[in-house]
Amino acid sequence: MHWLGRYRIAPYRAGQILRWIYHRGVCSFSEMTDLSEDLRKFLSERLDISRLETEQIQTSKDGSRKYLFRLKDGQHIESVLIPEPGHWTLCISSQVGCGMRCKFCLTGRGGLARNLEPSEIVNQVCAVRDDLRDPGSLTNIVLMGMGEPLANYDSVVQAIRTITANNGLQFSSRRVTLSTAGLVPRIYDLGRDVTVNLAVSLNAADNDTRNELMPINHTYPIEMLLSACRAFPLPPRRMITFEYVLIAGVNDSPRDAVRLARLLRPLRAKINLIPFNPYEGTEFKRPDEGATLTFQKVLIDRHYTAIIRHSKGADICAACGQLRAR
Ligand code: SAH
Repeated sequence: MHWLGRYRIAPYRAGQILRWIYHRGVCSFSEMTDLSEDLRKFLSERLDISRLETEQIQTSKDGSRKYLFRLKDGQHIESVLIPEPGHWTLCISSQVGCGMRCKFCLTGRGGLARNLEPSEIVNQVCAVRDDLRDPGSLTNIVLMGMGEPLANYDSVVQAIRTITANNGLQFSSRRVTLSTAGLVPRIYDLGRDVTVNLAVSLNAADNDTRNELMPINHTYPIEMLLSACRAFPLPPRRMITFEYVLIAGVNDSPRDAVRLARLLRPLRAKINLIPFNPYEGTEFKRPDEGATLTFQKVLIDRHYTAIIRHSKGADICAACGQLRAR
């Protein structure tokens, strides 16, 4: 790692140090007993091993848990731990707030405060893992929390590298997913720079509707977005996930579903349908169960994998688009 290289520390030493930090969760150089006294002292005087301060943990009726972290400058972020059969998935944040201003998303309402540092992204995983009785049961990471990951590109890529590195947190890159609102040039970069699953928040099947919901669509309309998705390198049998928030009367008609199916035809795509999670002050409504099932059926009839994702943790405001950290 470059910060150790700067001090001319031999690669095998760097490996020892990283394993202390990421595999054994050590928080001070003095505990690294296989390093010389001199080296431990040298490092302690120059480097910090940072951790996140957990301010609050809330548990939902459905078993998901929301972690509220306080950052050094007093800002807050949230991560959501989601129970799945046999393992946990952790949803982490990439920014304090978000600048994308999607109309239906609560996180976006307050705008962007700042980008997270790579350490602040990785430390969400460390903090939650350390809080689990069986740390190995945390197997999946999704960058779907607060913020637009591709708007904080360099830090996010560095964090993904640490999360998946052998001398890092050792998550399988097949179990790490980045979700984007559609920053097209960065989707091309991402495919070149790192191995990660891609999820795209599509949310509409025509540009007029998507322009209304997601201002980013004015800059990168659907055709450009889907071209970038087509170019995204996919290992055999992998697919790109398209997220589609179902909003009553806005994008939930069977016609929308037919259009969506046609649009994704040239892609290796699966679809996550997320019934809108309401919050105070929103004009939008969740469609009823019938409309949701009809929408799904149109997609399944056209041979798509389309899953209805009832967001977890709505009772503690931990559901998709409800993270605000305040
Ligand atoms: N900025 C990235 C990462 C956030 S992911 C992105 O847009 O993909 C958050 C997901 O939750 C997105 O798919 C978004 O469309 C969805 N979402 C936002 N607000 C929501 C709400 N109120 N109900 C349901 N889903 C919502």
